[in-house]
Amino acid sequence: MGRRSHHAQGDGPGVSGKGDAKAHGDATRLVQAGRRPEWTGGVVNPPVWRASTILYDTVGEMRARNRDTHHKLFYGRRGTPTQWSLADALTEMEPGAEGTLLYSSGVAAVTTALLAVLSPGDELLMVDSAYDPTRAFCNGLLRRYGVTTRYYDPMIGAGIADLIGEKTRAIFMESPGSLTFEVQDVPAICAAAKARGVVTLIDNTWATPLLFPAIGHGVDISILACTKYIVGHSDAMLGSVTANAEYWPAVRNTTYALGQHVGPDDAWLGARGLRTLAVRMERHQASALAVAEWLAEQADVASVLHPALPGCPGHEIWRRDFSGAAGLFAFTLADGDDAARAALIDGLELFGIGYSWGGYESLAIPADPGPLRTATPWMAAGPLVRLQIGLEDPADLIADLAAGLDRFRAARG
Ligand SMILES: *Cc1c(COP(=O)(O)O)cnc(C)c1O
Repeated sequence: MGRRSHHAQGDGPGVSGKGDAKAHGDATRLVQAGRRPEWTGGVVNPPVWRASTILYDTVGEMRARNRDTHHKLFYGRRGTPTQWSLADALTEMEPGAEGTLLYSSGVAAVTTALLAVLSPGDELLMVDSAYDPTRAFCNGLLRRYGVTTRYYDPMIGAGIADLIGEKTRAIFMESPGSLTFEVQDVPAICAAAKARGVVTLIDNTWATPLLFPAIGHGVDISILACTKYIVGHSDAMLGSVTANAEYWPAVRNTTYALGQHVGPDDAWLGARGLRTLAVRMERHQASALAVAEWLAEQADVASVLHPALPGCPGHEIWRRDFSGAAGLFAFTLADGDDAARAALIDGLELFGIGYSWGGYESLAIPADPGPLRTATPWMAAGPLVRLQIGLEDPADLIADLAAGLDRFRAARG
């Protein structure tokens, strides 16, 4: 990691940028960020402040506080120093960002961000490789509220300009894509959007701001399922939305209007995870690459969909824009059916079978992207397996997968 410095990316003009503190390296900022003395009280980790009622000395003070509640004790729904500390740390990791709000899940963050920028009659351009619940929200609640969604090819790049119409209000990206890992040309899409006054959003869960500071690359609103790498230990649900100065008021107002809130204990777990993000990502990256490169050499593997490997759609864009890779990728089998794939996965000893990812433990799931697509067909010779590579020894993971491929061959007949 650290192949290129984030210093080169610069801030958008006119952005007040609470995330401007770039004098230090990423790992240093991850350790320092959000630890204001008035919030920590001198201890290292910001403590858990649990609150609903906040007491005021006088009626006058109560009324005065009402005028500006951001990062001030007002009422529990607006959070306490525990939540503000994590939110501030995430803002500091995004050069050009104005502020961050936290949510009870990644899906809550995605849906709130979309509601913040869309109104009835608007059109949304949504990447075809989007996380399935994001798609479900567009096709369900957003449609019911009069917003239409058009899906676009993840590899469209500057060609997105041709899809922008009079009603287009927002473009949503996810890079790399869920399950299929296409890397999008985010700067080209953002440039086309800006030229037409269209707001851009990205689900940046895979890279996190550490490997891809999205706002510095031109995105207006950056969304994380902190459940994954920020929490990092598979023990809490959490989401975040970080916005630039232009869209921060809309995001904040919609978040408050919807009553979105995250409990201090979960925020504390997120803040605790964040401090070790850089070392964990280094290990996730190295181990996942070792496993991916081994898989690429196996006769029964048709393709390995890992942004850092040539052959992954958008690999060149990953090289240009990202400072590293995460530990999540997929591979497709050369042939075989669902039962043969299940034989591979069911017998794995070190890989758990379960949703989510970003924790210290490895996971393997079957996935079938085909039925989820509408703009671009998904073509693969055989079934797909998605792997989350945890912090185990990669040689052990490879041996486990080798035995899995033996089972696959036996089951395939
Ligand atoms: C998991 C995930 C989400 C949703 O996060 P939750 O915390 O599980 O609600 C959103 N986007 C992506 C890309 C994800 O992988």
